Amino acid sequence: MITTDQQKFQAIISHAKEYGFVFPSSEIYDGLSAVYDYGPWGSELKKNIRDQWWNSMTRMHDNIVGIDAAIFMHPTTWKASGHVDNFSDPMIDNRDSKKRYRVDHLIEGYAEELNKKGHEVEADQLIADMDRLLAANDFAGLKTLIETHKIKCAVSDTCNWTDVRQFNLMFSTQLGSVAEEANEIYLRPETAQGIFVNFLNVQKTARMKIPFGIAQVGKAFRNEIVARQFIFRMREFEQMEMQFFIRPGTQKEWYAYWKEERMKWHTGLGFLAEHYRFHDHVKLAHYADAAVDIEYAFPIGWKEVEGIHSRTDFDLASHQQYSGKKMQYFDHEINQNYIPYVIETSIGLDRMFLLTLSHAYAEEKWVKEDGKEDSRVVLRIPPKLAPVKLAILPLVKKDGLPEIALDLMHQCREDFYCFYEEKDTIGKRYRRMDAIGTPFCVTIDHQTKEDQTVTVRYRDTMKQERVPLGMVRELVRSQTR
Ligand code: ATP
Repeated sequence: MITTDQQKFQAIISHAKEYGFVFPSSEIYDGLSAVYDYGPWGSELKKNIRDQWWNSMTRMHDNIVGIDAAIFMHPTTWKASGHVDNFSDPMIDNRDSKKRYRVDHLIEGYAEELNKKGHEVEADQLIADMDRLLAANDFAGLKTLIETHKIKCAVSDTCNWTDVRQFNLMFSTQLGSVAEEANEIYLRPETAQGIFVNFLNVQKTARMKIPFGIAQVGKAFRNEIVARQFIFRMREFEQMEMQFFIRPGTQKEWYAYWKEERMKWHTGLGFLAEHYRFHDHVKLAHYADAAVDIEYAFPIGWKEVEGIHSRTDFDLASHQQYSGKKMQYFDHEINQNYIPYVIETSIGLDRMFLLTLSHAYAEEKWVKEDGKEDSRVVLRIPPKLAPVKLAILPLVKKDGLPEIALDLMHQCREDFYCFYEEKDTIGKRYRRMDAIGTPFCVTIDHQTKEDQTVTVRYRDTMKQERVPLGMVRELVRSQTR
């Protein structure tokens, strides 16, 4: 039973694995740190979140179109974007062995030793101190932390450390099959640059006029340093980003507009407004003149789920400079050529997935009419996002009931995801559907044969009612759109 948020977080991780939402990557080889795979219900939930975002951005806005750019980009892209010079995390060298360590790995290794020796409190404190110093970019503090704990190099067995230095978060690989011809390229750490380099292609071919936006969903890769928070911080993850191109000088209004618009999207999906807040950035990134995070009350605390950034003309101007190609737009309304300014909305699909599970996961206990206790684990996923919308359950495997159930399934599955099951008692089947967040179950019983009605059972209230068989499809469709 959950008593603390940390326990709830652990319960969500176990539940996600047990019910086919999220598995550790390559688990048979003991997993790969901060990399995860989505199972049958996880991939469906993820797709539903992605679709909601994509449709709300592209279909519901006349002036936003989508693209699907490649993960690999010309290496100069990342020079222009500032990632080669600015996108880094701390590391440290041992002067005697010349061995280089990621600061977090070194400290975590020592914390593990402390744990093994039974000093759990000290180990937890050490990790907490490290996380705080990493978050504050306090390199001198990190070095002092290593020295005060007398953390030694495993090779030289000494504490003779250099200063802490930056380590780039981008993954690199080689393009080309022959080593001498090989060219180092990066796996993109964000999807935004694929949008910027295509700005003119899209503007011209889709005949867009400023203000207009370009949306994209895709994988991004970061060699993250703090990577112990399930799918909150992954090394391979998916971003849903939209760059909105505007006239210089109008950024304040559009920034305010997108702040409000994005918050509406979250609450419109059925998530609670009181679990959200804005957090303004004090220390701005090199490209921004204003930035805010949309934070959510996760079981691991208030954390960023989405960022809204006023990026000025930094990216387009920089690409113009590095590529030598004009990145300007001619604005007929004011008869002027300019490099547009940009407001970005950037949300992590995996974080939105974790947010959904955090909102949905509930352990419930109650006393039945016969005085006995009952309980269930239910995922109260907003019906629009639920992986399975309708479970179709014949009461027994005979007497023509499966045929009626399968017929209903064939009618409904063009409209939404249905799940058919005839094994086990109805009660057990309901519980399994609760555990994957299915908002509606229908049971086909002998009465169905007589009067063409079925029992609909609602996930959230567990209420059951008889409705005409012919109404099921519309009932579910109207409530899961
Ligand atoms: P954080 O401060 O948490 O590292 P960030 O400010 O670096 O995030 P952005 O570069 O603004 O994040 O990326 C936009 C969004 O992408 C974030 O709001 C988050 O939802 C998502 N995201 C970023 N890094 C990761 C990651 N390692 N794993 C999962 N999602 C991520």
